[in-house]
Amino acid sequence: MLPATVLLAGWLLADCLAHEHQVPFRYQDGPFIAAPTRPLVWGDINIIHTTDTHGWLSGHLKDTAPEPNYSGDIGMLSSFVSHLKAEAEERNVDLLMVDSGDLHDGNGLTDGFPVGGIDGHEALKLFRRLPYDVMAIGNHELYKYEVAYDMYKNFAPKLHGRYLTSNVNITVEESGQLINVPIGDRFSKFQTRLGRNITAFGVLFDFQLNSINTTIQSPADMVQESWFKDAIAEEPDLFLLVGHMAIQPGSRWPVVFEAIRAVHPLTPIAIFGGHTHIRDCVQLDSRSMSLESGQFMETLGWMSLKFESDQVAFTRRYLDANMVTYAYHTGKHGEDFHTKEGKDITTGIQTLSNAFNLSYQFGIAPQDYFKQRVPTSSSSSVINLFASQVLPTTLKLSSTRGDIPAMFVANSGVLRYDVFKGSFTRNDQYIVSPFQNTFEYVQNISRSVAAQVVDELNRSGLPSLEKLYSENTSIDQADPFEVYSRWLQGQWERWNSEPSSSTENLTLGYVTTDACPGAGDDVPHQPVPHYPLPPFIGSDLPNTDYMDLVFVSFIRDSVLIVINEINAGNVPNVTDADVKPYTQLAVDNVFGLYASMVWS
Ligand SMILES: [Zn+2]
Ligand SMILES: [Zn+2]
Repeated sequence: MLPATVLLAGWLLADCLAHEHQVPFRYQDGPFIAAPTRPLVWGDINIIHTTDTHGWLSGHLKDTAPEPNYSGDIGMLSSFVSHLKAEAEERNVDLLMVDSGDLHDGNGLTDGFPVGGIDGHEALKLFRRLPYDVMAIGNHELYKYEVAYDMYKNFAPKLHGRYLTSNVNITVEESGQLINVPIGDRFSKFQTRLGRNITAFGVLFDFQLNSINTTIQSPADMVQESWFKDAIAEEPDLFLLVGHMAIQPGSRWPVVFEAIRAVHPLTPIAIFGGHTHIRDCVQLDSRSMSLESGQFMETLGWMSLKFESDQVAFTRRYLDANMVTYAYHTGKHGEDFHTKEGKDITTGIQTLSNAFNLSYQFGIAPQDYFKQRVPTSSSSSVINLFASQVLPTTLKLSSTRGDIPAMFVANSGVLRYDVFKGSFTRNDQYIVSPFQNTFEYVQNISRSVAAQVVDELNRSGLPSLEKLYSENTSIDQADPFEVYSRWLQGQWERWNSEPSSSTENLTLGYVTTDACPGAGDDVPHQPVPHYPLPPFIGSDLPNTDYMDLVFVSFIRDSVLIVINEINAGNVPNVTDADVKPYTQLAVDNVFGLYASMVWS
């Protein structure tokens, strides 16, 4: 359900700001959205970018700052882009729109499908009504074969050659034969409205956790393929590289960039990356720009290229995706702003939300619980809440071993998001933890061993993942949430180390520093506080000599290793044979159960 307060505040505020206030100011009685103060810089080719949307078609629905910054849904985005396209026509310039992948996993609109459905199948029917010129595949399209197949069979054909999977194939059966084919198209050559020639690719980093019967060729091998060499032989007006890789020089983008530069030293190259969920910009040379535009429909990236004699002037901007931003940059408000198509899409989101029962309320959270805005020891920490309250309360209730003392251990990565004060819905449950891992236990763990498990886990990390990523790693193969978290931490540390920073009139939000000239953020903010997160968390130790040690199935290997290390051969090693299922509950339904038990 779209909260009327956010929308109303947005619309009213947009009108009010347009007429009177041109600077951000604090808004006491409700969600406040600060307005931009600088018009967009238009060039000859202008490109709107989204990435890592992960199902957030309805935007962010909560009132706690900075969530209202991101309260625009994709219906409003559709209206916004349609007004910008009209402006582009007036200005006699081109406007394109691209997406860098990860359309699945992270919101009920994709993940909340009924039994027998496919993740994202319905939501993407709405998503593809946005006027994208090029979309690229992300790793979250590839964890499950049925999702990858849905992209191949139902999504890619609707994009008519513009769903680009340059280095990603799928094996499918056709006329009794198994064939290995690109999920979408390897590349696209097209002309803009004004007749400029574009050659576009859609590249994924060398992702290794993909499902069986999908294959990813490394970008380094891809650029050696004859189809790639043929595709870049002819010089376009712009190489448009859209893909699911971080844009930092430590990513695989330079491999693709250099392959093109070897043939075309001067042709403009626009790169649109993703996967690490941050706002970022670099220029690999003066005739190219690389942009990454955040996550979860929070950010719209804007890039402009102006051709000036033999130079190309690039600009970039990170727009907070909300009605105030849209009204400011189009000069349109209320009914003048909302197009019929935009309103239809918004209605479609609501219909889908109803069909998936996403506004079903488990309970009402009495306060905000934050993932990293407070220390883990805080009573406002969602990590603390999860380990010390949610797991013991729900798992014991649902287990036949509920009366045996137990300690509960999880990796903090199973929680993806904050829990905000107010209604806790089925959609919120998908947002806070979409993972389907189960819970397992080992019995008869001594108090002295249990007391050390979490500390030891935090010292040793996750061996299985470390092993996976130990060879030939790129920045993209690191955990994207680590990269995102480090980015937030950097904002918070810089803010605190510059005591002269004026906080007056600034709302919470992203504070981007990147390697491109000028200010990137469309609206200046002060950063959200950020505290480090231990990789593993545990409940309180029960006051007993022996107990069950209950853990998320995902960390089983690490837990067994650590128990055996602590025991140091003094007792027989615990093995997989000692591990048993603890409950029928999975990670993605404990919060809902807790809310219905404690918050209703
Ligand atoms: Zn992502
Ligand atoms: Zn990704």
